[in-house]
Amino acid sequence: MKVPFLDLKLQHAPLRAEVLAALADTYDNTRFCLGKDVENFEQGFSAAFGHPRTLGMNSGTSPLHVASICGGFGPGDEIITTPFTFASSCWGISYVGATPVFVDIDPDTWCISPEAIARAITPKTKGIVVVHIFGQPARMDEIMALAQQHKLFVVEDCAQAVGARYKDRPVGAIGDCGTFSFYPTKNLGACGEGGAFVSKHEAVMAKAQLLRVHGSPRRYAHSEVGFNFRMDGFQGAILGIKLKHIAAWTARRRAIAAKYRAGITRADVQLPVVPAYGESVWHQFTLLHPQRDALRAHLEKHGIGTEIIYPGPMHRQECYASLGYAAGSLPVAEKTSATCLSLPIFAELTDEQIEHVIKTINAF
Ligand SMILES: *Cc1c(COP(=O)(O)O)cnc(C)c1O
Repeated sequence: MKVPFLDLKLQHAPLRAEVLAALADTYDNTRFCLGKDVENFEQGFSAAFGHPRTLGMNSGTSPLHVASICGGFGPGDEIITTPFTFASSCWGISYVGATPVFVDIDPDTWCISPEAIARAITPKTKGIVVVHIFGQPARMDEIMALAQQHKLFVVEDCAQAVGARYKDRPVGAIGDCGTFSFYPTKNLGACGEGGAFVSKHEAVMAKAQLLRVHGSPRRYAHSEVGFNFRMDGFQGAILGIKLKHIAAWTARRRAIAAKYRAGITRADVQLPVVPAYGESVWHQFTLLHPQRDALRAHLEKHGIGTEIIYPGPMHRQECYASLGYAAGSLPVAEKTSATCLSLPIFAELTDEQIEHVIKTINAF
């Protein structure tokens, strides 16, 4: 039996007629950059997840750049963040000339450790970039208490966590701002690039809105140096359609995760921990195993696709070599990278496929 790691064609086939009709309408009415399709999507997104307002952007990296500017980050500032993430969580810090300060992660949720943050705070610390990795919310109460005490600006990178909740609140609405990605493989994926920015502060939203379109409060007036971070009209139309399905897709991801957690019974596998404070949206289902590469080869032999996410933590990447983090300096992140394996988890997987993955792992 074949079990692909991810097959977006299965999600797209049943939406084809509706999507193509929407794209034709956008095309015929020339709504290419922002416009009604994007506004409809922004309103739907705000309503679905509980944000006062949402700004659609052209990727998940752009809102991270905007977040750094809204936080007033700049040269000489230290921004504490996690090494166990996709690179662009750190790019926003580096784009404005601030210094990323990498600290270790919690060994059970793989999100940034609040205790490690506390140890890394100096007079130069200006902010924290939190990542809700694999869809699992980080420990926001502890992080926000530190931020309040030290007057730090908190960015939530929610690229993998659309729809996730921390206690009774949606991710992205707890810190000072939140960023989302609609890269095609994300839980809510465009058919191209896309992202979004949210904030509970009206002033931050106003600034982000200005930065999104050339720092321009009115046509051909520029109150600051801005960007072109507009969401594409076609992507807005597609995302508006997909948004209607995200609750069902997330429910199916949760059901698959529950099956994996109940079915994988080997003592040498570390399964993801589900803390009582949060509701993960299972962007990835990742386990740790001491013979990760051999387990991966065994699954491959039995037709099961897997991925290593992420094989190298950011503090050890060549682009940050000048920061001087030695091997072994952030041991939990390094051990997690060396032993992690992500299993197939997407809404269209069948129960038989999930059973095959479970049996194959248990028989390794
Ligand atoms: C996908 C992702 C982003 C943003 O990626 P884009 O490709 O720019 O949309 C940022 N952070 C994390 C953790 C991600 O997974």
